[in-house]
Amino acid sequence: MSSPSRFERQARFAPLGDAGQARLEDARVLLVGCGALGGVLAQSLTRAGIGRLVLVDRDVVEVTNLPRQVLFEDRHAREGTPKVEAALESLERIGGPTRFETHALHLDADHLTTLAQGCDLVLDGTDNLATRYLINDYCVREGVPWIYGGVVGAGGLILAVRPGVGPCMRCVFPDPPPSGVLPTCDTAGVILPAVGAVASMQAGLAMRLLADPAKFEPALIELDVWHGDVRRIALPRAEACPCCGRREFPFLEAPAADTAVSLCGRNTVQVRARGQRPDLDRLTERLTSTAQDVNRAGPLLRFAADGFRMTVFPDGRALIEGTEDTERALAIYDRWIGS
Ligand SMILES: [Zn+2]
Repeated sequence: MSSPSRFERQARFAPLGDAGQARLEDARVLLVGCGALGGVLAQSLTRAGIGRLVLVDRDVVEVTNLPRQVLFEDRHAREGTPKVEAALESLERIGGPTRFETHALHLDADHLTTLAQGCDLVLDGTDNLATRYLINDYCVREGVPWIYGGVVGAGGLILAVRPGVGPCMRCVFPDPPPSGVLPTCDTAGVILPAVGAVASMQAGLAMRLLADPAKFEPALIELDVWHGDVRRIALPRAEACPCCGRREFPFLEAPAADTAVSLCGRNTVQVRARGQRPDLDRLTERLTSTAQDVNRAGPLLRFAADGFRMTVFPDGRALIEGTEDTERALAIYDRWIGS
């Protein structure tokens, strides 16, 4: 009698089967973001035996990540380990056939074009709107499926995009809202069960999409683990969609600009807004309960958070005092001011 194979139980699930399992083991997936959603996604796909997983994250592990970012431990936070490195350490301990590639960087259009090359699927594990619009542009242009996941509080949204077959993200959310308008995990909080539910839904859809793409039906799914609700919303493609309809890709084709510049000798980084101008009134209101020393001085908004002091200008430009690291400053900017 031969010993049971690693994926026996998984392949016994009839809709996947041995043929589907073989496709998973051949698949190449780009996972953008290795934090909350990304951690659960990376672990699920590694345990499922995905062939190759390309991991991208620009951030380092912090102690406030630990309640919901399942790949990280206290020591990673103490040492400020880059998330992709800490993730790799945890994922390699799982074993199995998956091969990993890690990139500690802020994903821009050039990186995305290079890293997504040859990928069968792109997974969104970010909490960043600008990055999602970039991914949507790329995936629609190249015909690569991708799965959006968003979580805040106890709820979340999942949108699986199959270019040409169902709606893309811009059919549903045509334009990014002004910075500071939407709640984020830093302002509204988040709990692990919501992260787990959203990422597991993404991972399940990812397995199905990779195993049997022809039968995949795109949909928008909304869930809430506090109230126990799951809603599947069938949405048509928007005829007038600038992205999948008119095939305009402004997020991908905008000229690369230095969005963050370290100001010499000042321990300060200047970050330029990449999306729309922030709504400073609403941002001030939102920060009052979560940041410190919030101060609206004429046109400027000043506040402190996470040990940094920030000054926001009406055009969305901001000075982040307390670091010379531009990647770090971009992460702080997106967290507190919005992207
Ligand atoms: Zn569209």
